[in-house]
Amino acid sequence: MAKSKLRWQQLFDKVQQCDMEKGQFSWFSNGSLNISDNCIDRHVESNPDQTALIWEKDEPGTEERVSYKELLDMTCRVANVLKGHGISKGDRVAIYMPNSPLAVASMLACMRIGAVHSVVFAGFSAEALATRIQDASCVAVITTDQAVRGGKIIELKKMVDSAVEQCPSVRNVFVASRTGADVPYQSKDVSLDKLMEQADTSCPAEQMESEDPSFMLYTSGSTGKPKGLLHSTAGYLLYVALTHQAVFNCSPGDVYACVADIGWITGHSYVVYGPLSNGVTSVLFESIPTYPDPGRYWEMVERLKVNQFYTAPTAIRLLIKAGDSWPQKYNLSSLRTLGCVGEPLNHEAWEWYNKFVGQSRCDIVDTWWQTETGGICITPRPSESGAEILPGMPMRPFFGIEPALLDSQQRELIGNDVTGSLCIKKPWPGMARSIYGDHERFLDTYLRPFPGYYFSGDGAHRHSNGYYQITGRTDDVINVSGHRLGTAEVEDAMDEHESVAETAVIGTPHEVKGEGIYAFIVLKDESTEDENKVKMELKEMVAVNIAKFAVPDHILIVPGLPKTRSGKIMRRILRKIAGGELSALGDVSTLADPSVVEVIVKLHVVAR
Ligand code: ATP
Ligand code: MG
Repeated sequence: MAKSKLRWQQLFDKVQQCDMEKGQFSWFSNGSLNISDNCIDRHVESNPDQTALIWEKDEPGTEERVSYKELLDMTCRVANVLKGHGISKGDRVAIYMPNSPLAVASMLACMRIGAVHSVVFAGFSAEALATRIQDASCVAVITTDQAVRGGKIIELKKMVDSAVEQCPSVRNVFVASRTGADVPYQSKDVSLDKLMEQADTSCPAEQMESEDPSFMLYTSGSTGKPKGLLHSTAGYLLYVALTHQAVFNCSPGDVYACVADIGWITGHSYVVYGPLSNGVTSVLFESIPTYPDPGRYWEMVERLKVNQFYTAPTAIRLLIKAGDSWPQKYNLSSLRTLGCVGEPLNHEAWEWYNKFVGQSRCDIVDTWWQTETGGICITPRPSESGAEILPGMPMRPFFGIEPALLDSQQRELIGNDVTGSLCIKKPWPGMARSIYGDHERFLDTYLRPFPGYYFSGDGAHRHSNGYYQITGRTDDVINVSGHRLGTAEVEDAMDEHESVAETAVIGTPHEVKGEGIYAFIVLKDESTEDENKVKMELKEMVAVNIAKFAVPDHILIVPGLPKTRSGKIMRRILRKIAGGELSALGDVSTLADPSVVEVIVKLHVVAR
């Protein structure tokens, strides 16, 4: 596959030399290639006018198309600007930009010259940006004057100003225009637009060794301090190209829309590198799912004739809350595959996605993977054509992935109907190679907990049919009177309640049971519900569908849940609230809306 899917400057001579125990990984040694050459130049040679990107800008109906040829031109100009400012192979460059063709060209420009990009979600605070720049000693930042999301202006450049004050490693800040606002320039700032006008439109692609680092990216920070994962060149590209094509059943000519931000791994692997290496048209979504109304995604699908659509459970649950009528207003007949990633996709959300968006004729692919895995590892497709897809689980390992479930004594669980820590037994090309600047932490986190295995940090259940279901994070496992419960199972049962929009459960110390269950519930419509009735019904549902011991001891109705900026529930914060440890909430730099924490604290105090 590496030979046929990728274009090599020099062909490799050995497929792999890896040692899981030592944490040494080498794929395709002595080969060299360039990711930007594979993602752009190859397609320009065969089909220069094919659309590479559709920039679905914040205002619906104002989309812009960029061909592969135009993307090459833009990428080379940025690459030459970076080179002209002394940036070279191995230097780290922070990219703090909203989704746009120029942001993609900036990522590809780094790849072209061998600089290691570190994309930081352009919604993070100045403080969070500064920590990430410092951790990687970035030499430059690429940003825009402002960002626009959901009709609101975000003062991006101002954030960069205050971040860069604390970052002596930064020599230059390249500022591109998004809104054209008149933003004041600081001493390190230069106009990227002006420099690009004067720059040359061709730039040779640096010869990169297979194992040269391609980019680094911080995890979402759901469980603690974000980790700056470092990815490879050849192995990464091969893995995202293969998974993108096979999981989404994508071929050139398709219009594929992954609505993730480029600030997350999903944006890297399945907005930029996977789709572009496969030569498809990738939609770059700049807005939010509810702007100007909750029909935004579906109106876009109709207007752009999207074939594959990829989103996150948090967005689906939000849209369910808005009502079934929104997807029904639009013609969704172009859709073939619907994907989902980021958290467990509960049954109710799966059924809704399948029925109202997929019109019961699309493949629903619940994809399990992580920043660390580089690409999708467990997912229903590909499989024999027409093979069953079941709700609530990612089901099948991708080619080359050997999942294993281990118990607390580090023994691998054999056979089916078992639950344990989800590990991967053999190295795969897309896996991260290290944590930037801290290989010991990489070993401690992923390779030492279960020697000889990669440890994901998640738990899973292998059903009697061999299919995998994610039970939640092992940090979040609740132990009630000796019964170990994953958060996903209890939440899934309660999510089925017709008045419930979203739930989160955690364990709290309990004198008799060891741990008791505390459930936080968000209702679809807060105003109309009889809260006590809902609580009784929820307890009943858990007792019937799981077991009596799983019934929550406390149920608190809240207006929202603490989430990361990428939309994941941060249960560790709920645990601290329940435990009264409000002064020790841990790393909250990735929290989307701190005000929701205060509201939950107040409700919790009143309820106790
Ligand atoms: P951090 O590692 O900093 O705590 P994070 O784990 O949220 O943050 P990501 O790498 O963005 O950072 O997310 C990967 C995690 O998302 C997985 O480990 C898993 O917990 C969850 N996840 C992703 N896809 C799925 C899925 N399909 N089903 C269940 N959980 C999923
Ligand atoms: Mg993680």
